[in-house]
Amino acid sequence: MNICDLHTHTIASGHGTRDTITDLAKAAAARGLAMLGVTDHGPATPGAAAVSYFRALPDVPRERFGVRILCGAEVNILEGGELDLPAEVLDRLDYCVASMHHPPRKRPKPGEDAAPVKARNTEDYLKALADQHVRILGHFDRTQFDAELDAVLDACAAHRVLLEINNVSLSDEGWHDEPGISAKDRIRETLLAAKRRRLAVILSSDSHGAAGVGLMPFAEAMAAEVSYPEELIANRNPHLLAYYLAR
Ligand SMILES: [Zn+2]
Ligand SMILES: [Zn+2]
Repeated sequence: MNICDLHTHTIASGHGTRDTITDLAKAAAARGLAMLGVTDHGPATPGAAAVSYFRALPDVPRERFGVRILCGAEVNILEGGELDLPAEVLDRLDYCVASMHHPPRKRPKPGEDAAPVKARNTEDYLKALADQHVRILGHFDRTQFDAELDAVLDACAAHRVLLEINNVSLSDEGWHDEPGISAKDRIRETLLAAKRRRLAVILSSDSHGAAGVGLMPFAEAMAAEVSYPEELIANRNPHLLAYYLAR
């Protein structure tokens, strides 16, 4: 039984839904979650909320319909590894998920040499993961941002960051395959390598809106497929979750 969903989006992300935090909290309560993490896209995502929104966010009511609300953000890992919210704003949030998206990141140009791009992506991941505000690595499966798996997983272990198993990435609408690389294969490979290191993981809906809050059947199926150890799944272990969210 999952106690939380810590990667969800509201109208403040600027796309995909018009639902508010209240709508998401109602859905979380109906599905028996104890905790809901609201993580709208950072300001570098076109149409997303400005820095001032995230500055005010921690002042919202922290309990709705019996569900504890965590105030977070899905920050963009920018070119060079910086995050798109300043430290003074991140300090007041409960945590953030750090992810690569296009835009704001550029994708490799057709015919561009893949090796330097992979090296740059890896460096940027490592820089972001070293930021104490980052508690969850979001959808590392995006094959358009290829990076060194071992280096990134070692950084998750070193900096106590949860590796996400993203439900959308495994669903039909979230298929992010590049020629020759399958997101699903990459997720499987990543989880097998994470399991060898005994890294903690978190399952997320990445739902834009209330409809998908708390629902992560594809992520659950993948965790089961690779026999991910139950005690390393943060959604099912409040002590592990608290340890990983602490800064
Ligand atoms: Zn994302
Ligand atoms: Zn997201």
